[in-house]
Amino acid sequence: MMAYDFDLFVFGAGSGGVRASRIAAGHGARVAVAEEYRYGGTCVIRGCVPKKLFVYASHFSEDFEDAESFGWTVGKASFDWSKLIANKDREIDRLNGIYINLLDSAGVRRYDGRARLRDAHTIEIGDDVVTSERILLATGGTPTFPDVPGIEHAISSNEAFHLETLPEHITIVGGGYIAVEFAGIFNGLGRKVTQLYRSEQILRGFDDDVRHHLAGEIRKKGIDLRTDTNVTAIEKTGEGYRLTLTNGETLDTGLIMYATGRHPNSGDLGLEAVGVELAKGGAVKVDEWSQTNIPNIHAVGDLTDRIALTPVALMEGHAYADTVFGDLPRQPNHTDVPAAVFSQPSVGTVGLTEEQARAEIGDVDIYKSTFTPMKHTLTPSEEKTLMKLIVDAKTDRVLGCHVVGPDAAEMVQGIGIALKCNATKAQFDATVGIHPSAAEELVTMRTKWTPPERQAAE
Ligand code: NDP
Repeated sequence: MMAYDFDLFVFGAGSGGVRASRIAAGHGARVAVAEEYRYGGTCVIRGCVPKKLFVYASHFSEDFEDAESFGWTVGKASFDWSKLIANKDREIDRLNGIYINLLDSAGVRRYDGRARLRDAHTIEIGDDVVTSERILLATGGTPTFPDVPGIEHAISSNEAFHLETLPEHITIVGGGYIAVEFAGIFNGLGRKVTQLYRSEQILRGFDDDVRHHLAGEIRKKGIDLRTDTNVTAIEKTGEGYRLTLTNGETLDTGLIMYATGRHPNSGDLGLEAVGVELAKGGAVKVDEWSQTNIPNIHAVGDLTDRIALTPVALMEGHAYADTVFGDLPRQPNHTDVPAAVFSQPSVGTVGLTEEQARAEIGDVDIYKSTFTPMKHTLTPSEEKTLMKLIVDAKTDRVLGCHVVGPDAAEMVQGIGIALKCNATKAQFDATVGIHPSAAEELVTMRTKWTPPERQAAE
């Protein structure tokens, strides 16, 4: 048998790649990983982590306002963007170091550089050439820019984390996770924000009530959200940029950020030479074991475009390492994956939307509630929370839970466990609420929602 340098060579030290490397090494495999940028990947370096720090930063403006209703006199507050960036960078440096230490202490050999396949077992990293019995591809994704004249003037979320200054007016294009999150961040930091979304309603794929509720809330907070509007051209002006919109109007802005999706980083890895099959759009095609069409090559995370979320990449990387190196075969399970959008207010969601449940199950009961969060009973804020449960009318199983409101992610994580346990609405009802909390509403919604057309008929 041919002796390889490694049992496993991992491309990319992001969430999926680092998890798989560490677990495989823990099972006794000889593992190496190549990373061309910084250790930790998109989530840690220029995604979830710095984004959430920005969300915290941006929330203070509202907190200062609310404080007055609770008896505080808050002096004139001012905000220093460069201080936030410096503090955020320090934390990201720390996390980058932690990821390096985790790999080193697990005995994983690190290669700083871009890896390319020469054949199914041979990898080049700069001048180094090594061999490995198995390969795991975990190179993530990159922001996608549409083909618009002047698009070179636009930034993506990557650059948003390193801006030297924050212009007074910022325009964001897109209606997905990143667009609504950054619209909330810049708005909270006191900037005028225009968000342009090409279709009818933001957050396509989310429950319709969630989409409409969030759109209403972010408009209340002052974001100029324009739906059915896209950009046809971008021009540099003296002070900033002039955007031409699909309705023929122009819009002057200090910064234009595109958040129009991400595409898998499958180029320039040597995949064509080896014959690794790609889907349309460039995702590496894998089966339910994360295996590609080349038996010793697997892929996990955003590169495979299954569900582009860090915890999903962790699950896929872990399941791969356990299966192949730990004699613990298991497939990643992509059902009932909870998710959150750190918009303001935030969204937490798990399971089916009402639209999916009606299409897949048919007979469903809907429970929903819209209310003022207790904190805002004293403040002038008009923010409302939305909670919604989708229940299978025949089996009483809770199929979906959707929350728009403060701490939605914290609430829905627990509800995700209940859905994994196939909890019924009767079990939700039998659960004692925590009072006073917003979350108690999830176990106290007793009245089925009747669509207005049926109410009229009854
Ligand atoms: P999304 O896929 O969520 O959204 C892309 C948005 O861009 C959609 O509104 C889409 O519109 C719009 N769009 C696409 N093409 C164009 C175009 N040519 N012109 C104008 N608009 C366009 O991508 P994001 O970039 O927001 O985020 C990428 C992924 O990263 C997310 O899907 C998510 O998986 C992950 N992520 C997760 C986060 C979290 O867990 N909190 C946070 C950030 C990212 P349409 O709906 O019409 O197609």
